[in-house]
Amino acid sequence: MDSSSSSSSSSSVHLALAALFGASVMAISAFFVHKRTVDQVLDRLINLRRRSPPPPAAVTADGFFPSEDDGGGGGYFGSDGEIEIDKARSSDENVLNSYRVSCSMPNVGLPNEWLDDEAMRFENRLPNSWDKLDLIPSGLPPLHTARRDEQDQSINISGSNIPVGSGSRLMTPRSSGGYAFGSMGDSDEEGTELATEQDILFTYEDNNALAEYVNENNPNIHNLSAPPFEGDNKSCILDQNCNAIRHEAKENVDQHGAGKEDTASLHIIRNDPVFANSILPLTTAVHESMNKEEEEVRKMIRECLDLRDRYVYREKVAPWMKATVEPSSVSGTNNDPLSFVPVEATAHHFRMEDGVVRVYAGENDLTDLFPVASSTMFFTDMHHLLKVTSIGNVRSACHHRLRFLEEKFRFHLLVNSDREFLAQKSAPHRDFYNIRKVDTHVHHSACMNQKHLLRFIKSKLRKEPDEVVIFRDGIYFTLKEVFESLQLTGYDLNVDLLDVHADKSTFHRFDKFNLKYNPCGQSRLREIFLKQDNLIQGRFLAEVTKQVLSDLETSKYQLAEYRVSIYGRKQSEWDQLASWFINNALYSKNAVWLIQLPRLYNVYKGMGTVTSFQNILDNVFIPLFEVTVDPNSHPQLHVFLMQVVGFDIVDDESKPERRPTKHMPKPAEWTNEFNPAYSYYAYYCYANLYTLNKLRESKGMPTIRLRPHCGEAGDIDHLAAAFLLCHNISHGINLRKSPVLQYLYYLAQIGLAMSPLSNNSLFLDYHRNPFLMFFHRGLNVSLSTDDPLQIHLTKEPLVEEYSVAAKVWKLTSCDLCEIARNSVYQSGFSHADKSHWLGHKYCKRGPEGNDIHKSNVPDTRISFRHETWKEEMQYVYLGKARLPQEIDI
Ligand SMILES: [Zn+2]
Repeated sequence: MDSSSSSSSSSSVHLALAALFGASVMAISAFFVHKRTVDQVLDRLINLRRRSPPPPAAVTADGFFPSEDDGGGGGYFGSDGEIEIDKARSSDENVLNSYRVSCSMPNVGLPNEWLDDEAMRFENRLPNSWDKLDLIPSGLPPLHTARRDEQDQSINISGSNIPVGSGSRLMTPRSSGGYAFGSMGDSDEEGTELATEQDILFTYEDNNALAEYVNENNPNIHNLSAPPFEGDNKSCILDQNCNAIRHEAKENVDQHGAGKEDTASLHIIRNDPVFANSILPLTTAVHESMNKEEEEVRKMIRECLDLRDRYVYREKVAPWMKATVEPSSVSGTNNDPLSFVPVEATAHHFRMEDGVVRVYAGENDLTDLFPVASSTMFFTDMHHLLKVTSIGNVRSACHHRLRFLEEKFRFHLLVNSDREFLAQKSAPHRDFYNIRKVDTHVHHSACMNQKHLLRFIKSKLRKEPDEVVIFRDGIYFTLKEVFESLQLTGYDLNVDLLDVHADKSTFHRFDKFNLKYNPCGQSRLREIFLKQDNLIQGRFLAEVTKQVLSDLETSKYQLAEYRVSIYGRKQSEWDQLASWFINNALYSKNAVWLIQLPRLYNVYKGMGTVTSFQNILDNVFIPLFEVTVDPNSHPQLHVFLMQVVGFDIVDDESKPERRPTKHMPKPAEWTNEFNPAYSYYAYYCYANLYTLNKLRESKGMPTIRLRPHCGEAGDIDHLAAAFLLCHNISHGINLRKSPVLQYLYYLAQIGLAMSPLSNNSLFLDYHRNPFLMFFHRGLNVSLSTDDPLQIHLTKEPLVEEYSVAAKVWKLTSCDLCEIARNSVYQSGFSHADKSHWLGHKYCKRGPEGNDIHKSNVPDTRISFRHETWKEEMQYVYLGKARLPQEIDI
């Protein structure tokens, strides 16, 4: 018994010893195997780092960035110093499969951390160049990443092997908040042209794969997959917080949000250390030492922003400062918006001088009441701006800032998208369908969809065949005769025959696109149905417009800003348009109107309609001053102008044009056959509107903003001119070609009413559209339809536009609601309307001005946008920016 027991105990000792020995051998061999593999990875990374160009080297020899547009093989974003590891070469390829490191992706500090961590272990193996292996480009400030060596070495995720980064993702696997990252697992398409997938440089999959790999080989490394901002060891709190927030949100939902506070968001902002750390990684940005070159760049950017401030017309008193909101105007019980109340004329006297109307207090008064910057000054400033936009350093710096903004937003989504989704869930009643969306850019003569127009034509042909509708070649035709002359019957008509839809023949052919306004290719049908100055005085167009307006009112939450043309061929055009509007009672509380001036001087000159450019300016602006000084002179126009919120200049921007010089001929001297450049049109419209608005404001009348088409095609000059002169613009897709202007548009938060579906028919394929990139970077973008007649298929073109964008770009509900909120801000609807739709504090910047119960946008998102913008402004102004509390007017 004893012996047996002693022998058994000795044998177990032997066994234990053997096991210990075996385990030691295994451990040692595993250590060496791991060490060798890690060394290989390190060497490869270091080699690649040496071989790759530093970030500024992405600038090509002539000092210009490779255009993001002409990506070629590079695609959209792939052109700035990314390092892609050759997959086919080493044993560690599985680890680094598709692992990419971006020099301009500061959020991903992981490679640094990992290397730092390894540096502790293999210190003596490190090459001398190790210190240079800083993946943050010199132009960017450092991040809030606590470095390993300053921390306790035993940091890990409390034994839980759940990486923090993916922790938040795991919390709500069914949430739509996963965004593009959520789809990464399903997609291993490397070559996809979708920007979001193509440009994700360091994904969860990469992250986790790397972590798993290293964990397998060295269980001591726990924290590889922790995000870089968890410096204060509180990463595990995130999980708890998530649970707490979810619990809280659930409670809110259960109570149907009895409290009016956006508690989920507030809770996050107040109590969440990770939120606080991750949303503002750049608080120290400004105090970083910077070199002279960088200082120069920031100075130039500041000068450009200051230039804009000097030009753009702003009302002296913001609408919310004037009077309390009259609830009557919201509820619609105010006076009839189409009736004229006589207003006394003032003694103002005005004269057109050198293409700009000057206003004087009286006929004999010589003091220009509202002086405006001269054309020479404007063209000089525009040239200065263009010079700045072409300087290599500035381009490079702006490009990096924009990339930085983009990655910052992605990081925000990684950390906060689930919270945003929860906050939206907890806001009672609101969802994407019942928030206000404004179609910020839609041409009135194309505002109905093709099926609608077809139905309308058929019904007219059936009900009013004997209506005399057109006078051609000395003969009056009835509607029936017109169709007989075209050899068409109502039965034959279908959408294909109508042929108003843009197709592949219109791409890069603005002229062909314009021809699509002719139903069945017949200009006479256009004249009958889509013009307001025809034999029937635009009755058919008014009737179809009323149907569109009534559809809009039925949908309640959709609003539109219709653009109608004034051509500048004769002064009576204004009165004609106004009487068409008033006589047909086209007022709707869901719509406001803009005037669009087609840039067609050369056509009218060729036809002999005008003799100089001055004629056009006279025809467009003189009636506006007349009616402003004395409303009784054009009562209908006075009433109509109450509904007009903006002024647009339109036409094919891709037509070649000469860049204006500093000293251009005056409009009266412009008698040649060529069309003036875009910026020439822009300046003279701006200058006249500026004085007109000053006059209107002084008389308590609503003002008219300059909101032209710009940057759809053509030269970058257009965008430079608009930057100086305009409130906001339509399209702006060419900003993708100029990082400096894009950055300036971001800083000034100039609204862009973008129409990716329209661009897809005309100038830019959908998948190449920069909308998503702009949105990520924080530019002030909205979605608009442009031409439903030519482009859209459904009854709700605006929702169709949102829908396609949401599907193609995987936009979340929060993204869509943010875009819709932007559209309300960009629009020209009244202060009363906006405060009704967005909350009475909408004029405040940042989360204070946001009401999730109205906009359905979580404070988390608005807070991120606002703080990011503030940081960026402080970066540019060296921490001395005095940022306004309220939005720009
Ligand atoms: Zn348009």
